[in-house]
Amino acid sequence: MTISEIKDQIKASSARVVVEKVIAKAREKAEYHALLNLTEERALQRADDVDAGKITGKLAGVPFVVKDNFLAFGAPTTAASKMLENFDAPLQATAVEKLEAEGAICIGKSNLDAFAHGGSTENSAFGPTKNAYDTTRVSGGSSGGSAVVTALDIVPFALGSDTGGSIRQPASFNGVVGVKPTYGMISRYGVVAMASSTDVIGSFTTNVADAELVSSIMAGRDDRDMTTLPDFFQIQNDVKLGQKIGLIKDFMTDGVDADVRARVNEYVEGLKAKGHIIEEVSLPMAEYALAIYYIIVPAELSSNLARYDGIRYGHRAEGIKTLAELYGRTRDQGFVTENKRRIMIGSYVLSSGYFDAYYLQAQKVRTLLINEFNELFSKYDVLIGPVAPTPAFKLGENTADPIKMYLGDIMTVPTSLAGLPAISVPAGRSESGLPIGVQLMGPSQSDARLLALARSMEVK
Ligand code: GLN
Repeated sequence: MTISEIKDQIKASSARVVVEKVIAKAREKAEYHALLNLTEERALQRADDVDAGKITGKLAGVPFVVKDNFLAFGAPTTAASKMLENFDAPLQATAVEKLEAEGAICIGKSNLDAFAHGGSTENSAFGPTKNAYDTTRVSGGSSGGSAVVTALDIVPFALGSDTGGSIRQPASFNGVVGVKPTYGMISRYGVVAMASSTDVIGSFTTNVADAELVSSIMAGRDDRDMTTLPDFFQIQNDVKLGQKIGLIKDFMTDGVDADVRARVNEYVEGLKAKGHIIEEVSLPMAEYALAIYYIIVPAELSSNLARYDGIRYGHRAEGIKTLAELYGRTRDQGFVTENKRRIMIGSYVLSSGYFDAYYLQAQKVRTLLINEFNELFSKYDVLIGPVAPTPAFKLGENTADPIKMYLGDIMTVPTSLAGLPAISVPAGRSESGLPIGVQLMGPSQSDARLLALARSMEVK
């Protein structure tokens, strides 16, 4: 389902009829557990306002879903945690405000790994989301719910956040388009912070043109997020011809699933057939990307999560006698195991005595990785590779082994650490019918060019 198809439906009936249908479909598909809450009352009110001509815009009446770490009205903002189970947002995220200003209608909040810590949505305090193609498998994560509502055609687009792959990997696992923009392209204001130096927000859509439209609406400078860049996103109608594209061979080794490699290679052949020039390239620092990521990200998130102390926000433990007990019990009850693991790692690498050895060292190696990308982008327009080493894995398959789970992030974290745009586009299926995505990566602020290239490759 595309945005323009939905707009046609609205024209032929009404925004109310379409929103009611979408909400009914969301209820029908409850077994996937993609949504934590519907924002039905507010959505229907807005639909009536669209029908009455009080709300207009490029997306007038078009329903969408936001990951439940976006502050949005109409239902609690839980971040899929007990900590925020009953938290009502006092304001809306800038991205949501911008979409609403164009008439879009948020119909619900999607499931995620609690506080976006994870790659399978199994770390949700409210239970996992199931894959859109195989309900015995994970949706991917952390934005699993948003990927699945898009793949199931409940809504034409959904929003997610991507700190180390949380849009791209679930997009790949569910056969939809996922966009991780350049760091700073879209305001993070009003989105529950994970790791402030790599967090970005972006979209899930069923096709590239819709991703371009949604990106163009959300992009731009926001005075409430000082890391935002002036709006540079301009949809490119024509694709640049004869682009030089580097296939990252470090991500195409024997350890990577054969179906994944086959689909990437086919996509590369398609690019060649369109006259682009493909060469194998190496990203030697990729070997260290996970080590850097799993030091810097826990460090930042341990600091960002310090605000959940039982006093200012969300859950507060009861029957407490001392302040230390209040903090301890509240945080024990409000966070899931993976949150606690990361808070402990983060506090450790930031502690005096270990700060230089871990955190500072990781920042230095991060700079080496960034230099390597800069070097590659002085020669290549685009880099290409898989999104993840495998298609969607089985529910429960990796939950007992966090290291195994982290290894699945190897292909998405490098661009996150470098703040570069990267998109995941459907590249076909595995032999057993599971979706597989291909990842296109570009230099800073090349988002529009990457999307134009991906659009030119879509089978019409
Ligand atoms: N899977 C990665 C992690 O667990 C990415 C998470 C994200 O992007 N929010 O950190």
